[in-house]
Order: sequence, then structure tokens, then C-alpha cells
Amino acid sequence: MSSKKLIALVSGGLDSTLAMLIAKRMGFDIVPVHIVTPFNDPCCRDIGFLNKVLEREKLRLKTVIVGKEYVDMVRSPKYGYGRAMNPCIDCRIFFFKIAKKIMEEEGAAGIVTGEVLDQRPKSQNLKAIRIIEEESGLTGRVLRPLSGKILKPTKLIEEGLIREDQLLSIRGRSRKRQIELARSFGLTDYPNPSGGCLLTYEPYARKLKDVFENDDSYTMTEIYLLKIGRHFRLSRNTKLIVGKNEEENRILESTVGYIKLIPKNCKGPVGLFRGDPDKLEMAARIVASYCDGPEGFKVVFVIERDDRSEEVAVVKEKKEIFRDLLVSSATR
Ligand code: SF4
Repeated sequence: MSSKKLIALVSGGLDSTLAMLIAKRMGFDIVPVHIVTPFNDPCCRDIGFLNKVLEREKLRLKTVIVGKEYVDMVRSPKYGYGRAMNPCIDCRIFFFKIAKKIMEEEGAAGIVTGEVLDQRPKSQNLKAIRIIEEESGLTGRVLRPLSGKILKPTKLIEEGLIREDQLLSIRGRSRKRQIELARSFGLTDYPNPSGGCLLTYEPYARKLKDVFENDDSYTMTEIYLLKIGRHFRLSRNTKLIVGKNEEENRILESTVGYIKLIPKNCKGPVGLFRGDPDKLEMAARIVASYCDGPEGFKVVFVIERDDRSEEVAVVKEKKEIFRDLLVSSATR
């Protein structure tokens, strides 16, 4: 018989926290695992609520940070995208494979997740759930207590680790039952269900698609920079990012491996440039259009490269002139 231990995939939201607590009340030892991707939304993916619950339950979180290999999966997902650039089926397979590896290391019987049947059209329907289990090698070993009566964790039942009458049959998008459960567990300040993954947002997805289509050798820095600034595509492999506030300007100015355009004689944003040097003047004109001062004002930039700096002056023009080059200025 397998050990009475489960790996809990926890996102920081209510459903996965409830699933973990239900499994713990069933008598399982729990190893909570939180996976951080480069596309976690810094505004919404707050795990403060989860941390409080873990402290109360005396559980220690394992955090797994994924990088390039996850981005490569997002670039060419086998099962395609949802409404934006979210490859939810492939992403779940990716996460489940990580959980399976930890499951084997820990000698656990399976994994527990907060998935609810038909809550998400793309990745939480019966067919997708079956594919995800098969492809990750976890068929019959995934406990989804919230919908467990419908999605039976067959092997865990056969091994006598779970009884069917311990499972719930929640289905669909309503949160009513989860809210009742939260109350019964004494949980109050849980986060809203929306948000958390930037891949689901159209403005962000546009920037990522642009990188995938136009940058032959993008780096992880490039991917992380998609969370800030206005992004301009000047040509294939040539890109400009313009800061939108002081904090973004600070981040851009401290990023290594890029050419920086810093206004010298007026207030204005920092520009971060990479690519064809022939496009540098165009980049300076774009950054100048966001600088203080009237049209026609001569903006002087310090152009900083890794090994040297120089000054360049351009005339301030209307922002609208460069609109066609703007990929996106928003993240959400
Ligand atoms: S919304 Fe994002 S994190 Fe969630 S399954 Fe889809 S791609 Fe993965």
C-alpha cells in the first residue's frame, strides 16, 4: 500500500487551499508545493493568505521556480492556447510532472489539487483532465476533493487511502459551495479567484507573441521585462522599452546587456534598446516624444552602453507618429 502522504499543488487561491485542507482532514500528511512561473502577475499572485493557512496548519511550503523550460513550453504548446497566450492544458501537464517528481522523492501516494470540473472551459473539462493525468503519468493518482465524486482518484480509492463518501461533487463556476467550505475551515480573508497569470491577459499576450515572433534569441531578462514599460518593435530583433513611471525607469536603468537612453536636459522616461544600431536614432525620437517640453524641443540623451557613453540630441515629436511601432503599453 502507498503511504498516506500527498503533494498539494497550491496556487495561493482559495480552491487549492481548501483541497489541501480537506486532504489533511482525511488524515494525509501534506507536502504543499507552490510553482512560480515568469508569468505570475505580481499584483494578484499574492500568497499571503496561503502562508497564514500554512502557518496555522504547521505545514512547510516548497517553492519551485521555473524559467526557460516553462517559457519554451508556452512558445509551442501541444494543446494550444486559451483566450490569450495561456496554454492551460500544457501548463497543467508541466506542473503535474513537477509534482510527480516530488511525489516520488517524498514517497507520496499522489497529488491533491483544487481543480473543479467545468470551472475553466479549456483545462478543467473531463477530456482535458484525462489528458493531463495521462501525459503527466499520474492517472488515478490525482485527488481533486472538490469534484472528487465525479473525478475519482481511482488508484487512491483502490488502495484504501480514500473513501468515495469523503469526496465532494462541486462542478462549474459558482463559488457558493467553496465559500461555505471556507467558512467551515475558519478561512476569511481569501483572495478573489481572478488574476494571477499574465498569459491570460490580451495586452501582455501581445508583447509575448511579439517576442516569440521577432526575437531569435530572447533571454529570460527579455521575458521578465514584459511586465513593465511600453514596448516598441522597431524591426526584427530590434526592440525599445520605455518606462512609464519612476520605479520602471529605475528597473530599466539598472538592467544590464542593453543600451540605455537617459534624457539629460529635461524630465522623461528611460529607454532600453537592443538590436540594430541603425535604429538607435529612431529609438531616441520615440523616447523624446514622452519627455517633458513642447513639440520641437531639442532633447539631449545620454546613450549608455556597457563600455562607453555618448550624447545624442533629437527633436521632440508627437507620440502618435510612432503608434504603429507600439506593441503594447499595458500589462493587463
Ligand atoms: S491560467 Fe496560466 S497558470 Fe493557470 S493553467 Fe493556465 S497557463 Fe497555467
